[in-house]
Amino acid sequence: SEVLRVEGISKKYANGDEIIEALKNVSLTLHKGEILAIMGSSGSGKSTLLHILGALDVPDEGKIYLNNIYEKNYCKEPYSTQIRSKYIGFVFQQFNLINDLTVIENISLPLILDGVEDSLIHKMVTEKLEMVDLIGKEHNRPCELSGGQQQRVAIARAIITNPKILLADEPTGNLDYNTAKDIMSLFIKMNNELKQSTIIVTHDPMVASYADRVLFFHDGILKNEYQTNNTDTDI
Ligand code: ADP
Ligand code: ADP
Repeated sequence: SEVLRVEGISKKYANGDEIIEALKNVSLTLHKGEILAIMGSSGSGKSTLLHILGALDVPDEGKIYLNNIYEKNYCKEPYSTQIRSKYIGFVFQQFNLINDLTVIENISLPLILDGVEDSLIHKMVTEKLEMVDLIGKEHNRPCELSGGQQQRVAIARAIITNPKILLADEPTGNLDYNTAKDIMSLFIKMNNELKQSTIIVTHDPMVASYADRVLFFHDGILKNEYQTNNTDTDI
């Protein structure tokens, strides 16, 4: 079954006199439990697509369905803020951690801002620290951790509210090969244990090999789709 579907998404940007068609009539479905990789050269529209799927940006045309229900206001404030906080977690290439806060404070932040009570925060954070294997690093600051550990803090923060959809933009772009593999194993584990669905934008075929499906973009068009051998998806 499906968790997120877009139909006929188009997005143009004005760049002076020039109109750039970042996405042209893109349709795709993210199935429950699936890891979807998105590949394509620089400028092919991957980030634009991820921002629209994450309700961070508005398409010019097209429809978005969440859990098979058409969401007319998916990308419109204030509804989009609710969509993001309830359904979506974001992971970035640059980790985007707050260096003045400890690991546990970084991970707790979304819950503190939501006004969740302290005892519940402690329970939820401990669960996620175990999931990303960072027990013992609670009181370190990001600058005291390796790149892979920092990305695992960012992942714990992204999943702290138990989002059903995880969106990752080049999550291994700053990591070495073996660390990237560890992070991909973690994405697989989270998909299985937390019943998530994940979309990963990547340039790296090794990263894409962990996905269930790979979509290739070129000049704003979804060009090719490739099914991998990782077949445990509930389609
Ligand atoms: P990718 O993530 O595949 O590198 P992007 O989605 O970032 O591609 O960009 C797609 C196209 O849209 C590119 O030509 C890019 O220059 C253009 N673009 C992206 N964001 C903007 C913007 N805010 N203003 C103008 N052009 C943009
Ligand atoms: P990159 O993958 O190139 O390092 P990011 O994916 O971190 O870049 O962010 C690309 C752009 O998306 C940012 O410049 C920002 O405008 C926007 N963005 C990213 N995350 C958020 C967010 N949580 N809320 C609002 N805008 C965001």
